Amino acid sequence: MTKRRIFTRLFAILSLMLMALTSDVSARQALDDTENLIVAHVDEGVENAISFLERVVNINSGSMNFDGVREVGQVFDNELTALGFETEWLDGAAFQRAGHLFARRGTTGPHFLLIGHLDTVFEPDSPFQRFERVDEETARGPGVIDMKGGDVVIVEAVRALHKAGLLDEMIVTVALIGDEESSGDPLEVGRAPLVAAAQEADIALAFEPGDGDPGTAVLARRGWTGWELHTSGTRAHSSSIFSEETGYGSIYEAARILTQFQENLAGEDLLTFNPGMIIGGTTVEFDKENSRGSAFGKTNVVADTTIVTGDLRTISPEQKDDVKSRMRQLAMDNLPGTSASISFRDSYPPMGMTAGNERLLALFDQASRHAGYGPVVAGDPREAGAADVSFAAGHVAMALDGLGMTGGGTHTLEEWADLKTLPMQTTRAALLMYRIARDWD
Ligand SMILES: [Zn+2]
Repeated sequence: MTKRRIFTRLFAILSLMLMALTSDVSARQALDDTENLIVAHVDEGVENAISFLERVVNINSGSMNFDGVREVGQVFDNELTALGFETEWLDGAAFQRAGHLFARRGTTGPHFLLIGHLDTVFEPDSPFQRFERVDEETARGPGVIDMKGGDVVIVEAVRALHKAGLLDEMIVTVALIGDEESSGDPLEVGRAPLVAAAQEADIALAFEPGDGDPGTAVLARRGWTGWELHTSGTRAHSSSIFSEETGYGSIYEAARILTQFQENLAGEDLLTFNPGMIIGGTTVEFDKENSRGSAFGKTNVVADTTIVTGDLRTISPEQKDDVKSRMRQLAMDNLPGTSASISFRDSYPPMGMTAGNERLLALFDQASRHAGYGPVVAGDPREAGAADVSFAAGHVAMALDGLGMTGGGTHTLEEWADLKTLPMQTTRAALLMYRIARDWD
């Protein structure tokens, strides 16, 4: 980042802070003429938006149905192209999935990265395949809120800004990921385009359904890291255990280290770590790919090999680094006759609870109240699983997730959408983007 860019960003963040502090007027009166125009464009588009949602829900796009994922991508490609975006399909062969749709528009103003995903957990063999309007305010369907509803909110928010003549005041990148529900391998390769887009952007907005309450948004998500602990001991007759020549064996050493983890690290705020599998003996076969294994050991032989696998969830990169180094430390000073090593594999990074994210939430809350939709507070990060926004959050000044349509039953045959949240989320996102662009410099 250039110095000039850093100053521009700092200035923008400061002026946004002021905005968040100054006005707090009661419902709707606080909208100016331009904002009322945005609201009017959203409202007049609602029925078309619901039909659009129905159309994309009815195209099966289970993560492994590559043709379906591409077909949904094509529908969004057409919509975004019509709104003046340059679109690009990034093939996913290198990470064994369908691929992603990226679209970009604009040359000046704040750069928004809008994040959605094209795939769902419902593969073609699922009994749940169709959009069904239950009543005036409710619809059921596979991926209707997770997250084709959020993808539609992205397009409709951009459309409302376009109709109001405001889209040229900002740069917008839309990233519709093709493998969120079952990410491809290697994950870093699959997420590289999202990271690259975030490096160029100022603000990331993600449209996952959040926790089902439109009065909350997600400003922090815990990251996920896998770990693997190996301990070694000296194979010998059990009658010699604890002796100088034999020592304690690999199983006691693994037990000591796990106890140390629990005694020293358990209970720290928003930190969890869980040993999920342990296997030890004198002959150990570990099938990492399938998380299974077998062991042979006799009661009268001191074990020489033990393997433990587990996970680690942290709320910030700092917490992650700190806990990793403490776990490494606790795996040292081994019992006599033993040794240990621990390795970590980072998967989804944490989306930290930064001041920038809090500021963005304050602006979103304000836009929501001004539009008559009530206050928005931060959801509990413990309830927010890993998501794609986490790959972007570390590279932008501000990020927020959970801005999609809400409802319930995601990943089940009962997934449903509260259709009222379609215009609500569209209005709130469009107002937020407009206000940030208006006050950018
Ligand atoms: Zn999702």
